Amino acid sequence: MSARPAPSLDRELAAWLGATVGPALHLDAPFGAITTYRVGGRTAGMVRVGEPQQFSAIVSAVRGAGLPMVVLGQGSNLLVAERGWPGLVLALGSAFEDVLLDDEGVVAGGACALPTLARRLAAAGRTGLEWAVGVPGSVGGAVRMNAGGHGSDVAASLLEAQILDLATGSCRWRPAAELALGFRSSAVSATDVVLRARFALGRGDPAVGRRALDEIVRWRREHQPGARNAGSVFVNPANVPAGRLVEGAGLRGFRLASARVSERHANFIVADPGGSADDVAALIALARERVAEVWGVLLEPEIRLVGFVPEDLETPLASVPNALQEVESFGRSDGRRA
Ligand SMILES: Cc1cc2nc3c(=O)[nH]c(=O)nc-3n(C[C@H](O)[C@H](O)[C@H](O)COP(=O)(O)OP(=O)(O)OC[C@H]3O[C@@H](n4cnc5c(N)ncnc54)[C@H](O)[C@@H]3O)c2cc1C
Repeated sequence: MSARPAPSLDRELAAWLGATVGPALHLDAPFGAITTYRVGGRTAGMVRVGEPQQFSAIVSAVRGAGLPMVVLGQGSNLLVAERGWPGLVLALGSAFEDVLLDDEGVVAGGACALPTLARRLAAAGRTGLEWAVGVPGSVGGAVRMNAGGHGSDVAASLLEAQILDLATGSCRWRPAAELALGFRSSAVSATDVVLRARFALGRGDPAVGRRALDEIVRWRREHQPGARNAGSVFVNPANVPAGRLVEGAGLRGFRLASARVSERHANFIVADPGGSADDVAALIALARERVAEVWGVLLEPEIRLVGFVPEDLETPLASVPNALQEVESFGRSDGRRA
């Protein structure tokens, strides 16, 4: 395998971005290391948006320079390639962690951590987002993914979301019906940033809510692996859990270099400490191929793959066309798949 170039922004663009965005821009920043997988490369630039007005500089960068960009929430559904990301990562800062309860429900900032939000709502005797205590993502990432669990999901209570389109600069509240929320999917695109979301909530007894949360956390600890993963690797097909297909293909506990299919839940792939994101991606490709051979079912990856190019992978990810479609990239086309 050839030596990998470190990701970098061209100098002029970096200087211009630095001058407009200011100290919020960090060049050559850790990326894979701050996802829940804790493996993978760096990013050429990272901006944590503290002030809403910083968006205009970023929108100019994206539109004018065609800068490849990916939006980062808590990084709990991302796998970043070892070669890193040659563009900008945009994350929402603490200005987007606001939580405002009213009679109808709650407006929560895109950067709010779901478990924190779920606990706060339960303590206030509000019901409907209990499931979120078990999902280690952000409100923005949850809307994009239509995250869910324990019989519910974002779609069950989302009323509307405030979304900034970085490609056009337009920002508006979009009704849930416009977002085409499907199973772990939505019409929220790679150029959209979910700034806030409004959820409908019911009312209940805080003690009952707390018990429901405790039960969800207990169930998770029992049934899912703890460290270095990004939740379910594959979307469940209509009639059967993906994990059952992976297990039925003989892959429970299967190891490929520094990545292994979890013993506890076969739809989770866990990375070793200090392991390689490319090993994880190769194991995803292998599991998909093996399940297709054994069951005739082509699993769709739920995890978002960032920065991969097919030649990085010994088991070619090119054999996983739907995985490549998950690659987050837009903007400048320099002949490489980002
Ligand atoms: C242990 C574990 C258990 C999990 N269990 C579940 C589960 O039960 N159910 C479930 O649905 N998921 C589960 N997940 C996956 C993950 O937590 C969810 O998909 C979550 O919604 C991702 O949110 P995030 O903020 O981490 O997004 P990220 O991983 O940072 O990003 C995911 C996608 O959302 C986009 N995105 C992130 N923030 C924004 C934003 N503000 N605006 C627009 N786009 C954005 C990213 O560009 C990317 O495309 C689990 C993950 C782990 C590690």
